[in-house]
Amino acid sequence: MKNFVLFGKPGSGKGTQAKHLSEKYELYHISTGDLFRKNISQNTKLGLLAKSYMDKGGLVPDEVTIKMLENEIKDNSKSRGFLFDGFPRTIDQADTLDKYLHSINMQINATIALEVDEKELISRIIDRGKTSNRLDDQDIEKIKNRFNEYNKKTSTLIKYYKDQNKFFPVNGHGSVDEITKRLFDLIDSFNLL
Ligand code: AMP
Repeated sequence: MKNFVLFGKPGSGKGTQAKHLSEKYELYHISTGDLFRKNISQNTKLGLLAKSYMDKGGLVPDEVTIKMLENEIKDNSKSRGFLFDGFPRTIDQADTLDKYLHSINMQINATIALEVDEKELISRIIDRGKTSNRLDDQDIEKIKNRFNEYNKKTSTLIKYYKDQNKFFPVNGHGSVDEITKRLFDLIDSFNLL
């Protein structure tokens, strides 16, 4: 089983590229943001809790996020591998994920980071907000808060995965197809799948 983390700031194209990657490599795509949004649309208790953080552009607390993630892995344990999108976002999440995967004889094989500059990200998110119905895409203060959360809590994961020799940056500028090709070339070069 091969498992990948798709890493990057909000708006860097993780969700879009995850669809292409999961299809080509038959990976089960887990997006914690999508799972929260599904819970919100179904008015679950978890959705209500998550919404109070997401609407402000803050991170949902680790214990809630980690539990949801573990359930999603358990429910799909027959998959060929997982593609994590938007998870982990904190060192605690990364540590728990490593320990959990280890306990079921798995590991993260690579963390692939989509690198895009913030000016471009803001314009992509505002553009997406015109059709996404996401409150956190429509307000510049919320978008800035998401970047702050990334800089404070998530960016430390770069060192975390570099120290494990599992961090692979990819240029996230250009057309969707160009970026997909860069990602395919990188993953193929691992000779894992
Ligand atoms: P995303 O769809 O990945 O941009 O996530 C949207 C929002 O969902 C984030 O701004 C957070 O509020 C929440 N969220 C998604 N993934 C996580 C996570 N791993 N940890 C905490 N909050 C998360």
